[in-house]
Amino acid sequence: MGLYQRCRRLRFPGLHACGLHTAAVPTPPHWLVERLGYFEELWTAQVKRLASMAQEEQRTIKISLPGGQKVDAVAWKTTPYQLAQQISSNLADTAVAAQVNGEPYDLERPLETDADLRFLTFDSAQGKAVFWHSSTHVLGAAAEQLLGAVLCQGPSTECGFYHDFFLGKERTVKGSELPVLERICQDLAAAAQPFRRLEASQAQLRQLFKGNPFKLRLIEEKVTGPTATVYGCGMLVDLCRGPHLRHTGQIGGLKLLSNSSSVWRFPGAPETLQRVSGISFPTAEELRAWEEWREDAELRDHRRIGKEQELFFFHELSPGSCFFLPRGTRVYNALVAFIRAEYTRRGFSEVKTPTLFSTKLWELSGHWKHYREDMFALQPPGLDRPSSSQSDHSASPAADTLALKPMNCPAHCLMFAHRPRSWRELPLRLADFGALHRAEASGSLGGLTRLRCFQQDDAHIFCAPDQLQAEIRGCLDFLHSVYTILGFSFHMALSTRPSGFLGEPCLWDQAEQVLQQALEEFGAPWDLSPGDGAFYGPKIDVHVRDALGRPHQCGTIQLDFQLPLRFDLQYKGQSGALERPVLIHRAVLGSVERMLGVLAESCGGKWPLWLSPFQVVVIPVGTEQEEYAREAQQSLQAAGLVGDLDADSGLTLSRRIRRAQLAHYNFQFVVGQREQSKRTVNIRTRDNRRLGEWDLAEAVQRLLELQDTRVPNAEEIF
Ligand SMILES: [Zn+2]
Ligand SMILES: [Zn+2]
Repeated sequence: MGLYQRCRRLRFPGLHACGLHTAAVPTPPHWLVERLGYFEELWTAQVKRLASMAQEEQRTIKISLPGGQKVDAVAWKTTPYQLAQQISSNLADTAVAAQVNGEPYDLERPLETDADLRFLTFDSAQGKAVFWHSSTHVLGAAAEQLLGAVLCQGPSTECGFYHDFFLGKERTVKGSELPVLERICQDLAAAAQPFRRLEASQAQLRQLFKGNPFKLRLIEEKVTGPTATVYGCGMLVDLCRGPHLRHTGQIGGLKLLSNSSSVWRFPGAPETLQRVSGISFPTAEELRAWEEWREDAELRDHRRIGKEQELFFFHELSPGSCFFLPRGTRVYNALVAFIRAEYTRRGFSEVKTPTLFSTKLWELSGHWKHYREDMFALQPPGLDRPSSSQSDHSASPAADTLALKPMNCPAHCLMFAHRPRSWRELPLRLADFGALHRAEASGSLGGLTRLRCFQQDDAHIFCAPDQLQAEIRGCLDFLHSVYTILGFSFHMALSTRPSGFLGEPCLWDQAEQVLQQALEEFGAPWDLSPGDGAFYGPKIDVHVRDALGRPHQCGTIQLDFQLPLRFDLQYKGQSGALERPVLIHRAVLGSVERMLGVLAESCGGKWPLWLSPFQVVVIPVGTEQEEYAREAQQSLQAAGLVGDLDADSGLTLSRRIRRAQLAHYNFQFVVGQREQSKRTVNIRTRDNRRLGEWDLAEAVQRLLELQDTRVPNAEEIF
């Protein structure tokens, strides 16, 4: 209760807090007060309604708690929060939301039926999503009060949250406004304002949001039932499905990170919006720890490492495409060689397919309809430029238009179809490192994360329906081997059919079951994302966590029932009849470029030997040993290892060793008089461990072994 009283006192933080706010926050605009008044009216009615329902029904419901215990509760009255309190005060304090029969649920929302009750805390991904989603409401409230923002949407992301809002045609958020906005957010959080869930009719929704054209549009497009929920929190009233925290006081630390612009992409004319993003934590200490972690992460930024280690660069004359320098290409090729070795072991056949295709192919595959905006289309030389009516986004391209491939699948379908196929050839696993082009907006380009040209470790498996299970198992095993070597832990999610899926429901049932069974057999934890599949098939999304614990979406295993139909793919079955294959799209690294960036950050530039562009530097003690040092360098290079020479006689030996260690050379071969006469090398690691004197040929041999086995710690086990 105490918290709630505090919250009422502080409902208008800008009006009475420190001078900064008094100056910054204007008196709440009339429409804001009016909206809140109407909300309060509806809220009072709902509170009464629920109380009388509980009173009239007097219905006892059975709730099973985490751990298996079953307790009685009163329908429309008992809340998950009350039950959490009964379990432990610690759980009641740390829970961010409940799960009722698997569905996310507010802690303060009365239970309605018998239920299986679980609690979400900030520790889980779902808990974080609720926490950050609630935080974005606080940001929205602050933006309304400080900037008079018209709110659009504010989702949680994998690492925090953002809110998109409209400030008028000309107005943007200024960097100098962020600290003020942040202070208001912090005050709103400290005020511990409760999130209040209200069910409102379509007419009530339209009344509540009559001043907000974006929300009206959302109501029109997204609210399909007779009612939808809105949440009140302080002065804010927002259309939202929930659930949320009990109150904003659960947010102990909040920081706003950046402001940028974004675009309202709902049907109709696009509108430029302002986007502010931030992050929050249950306690101020956790926020501080995160800030320290972020400083470290910035030092590890792959763009910075790429520059320092001369791995790659970008040029304004080819925006969104990367130049890989010799050392970067070394890492790139080592990654590709790794996947190629796995392909050989796992029965994949590598192929090469064209980059440029007639748009007729993209019409057949459906990309022209669904993906056209993301593709580069061009005219062959010697043809007249298309007239303006053809160059806009008309549905059908000019007959001779070509487009750069954004994915390999249609090319592989052509390859499957170019001659009759028999069941004996299945499963046919076609792998392709072909360059893909996607027309990313220039504003979204940055480093290796998002590029206009990249390669994937892309493969398509054509198999008979009864081979599906074994193939999925094989895909999961492939992912597991590769991520283990790369030092990633990973988590999988099964995405099932969305509304508007194409194809036979029974085919979907079967496929979803196969994927689920394969995941269960595999044994690693996985989540279900109902309705998140593509319209053409269910999929398994794979999120890896790098050495810093940051999530990245890399691999995917995607079933496709539509492409085999569109390309009329068939094979002669065992019975002699023609049958349709199932198609699996799968990638492990995903974009090789992006993976290279992830790895650079994950290892902080200290590459494992097998990927390292700085494997060995040979350092002669004096000029007399330079010739022998060159010989040692040549033996390394002849074996296919990276061998550099530091014969800079202007620097002392210890300075050169230090320099090599700072450059993260896995090993240094120091050669003096003694080593030269015995044809040996004196080996040190980048962590300055002394491995002593080794025969040169044996040392090279040992390095090759360690490289080939792709161990993560060659320096320790040399
Ligand atoms: Zn919400
Ligand atoms: Zn594909």
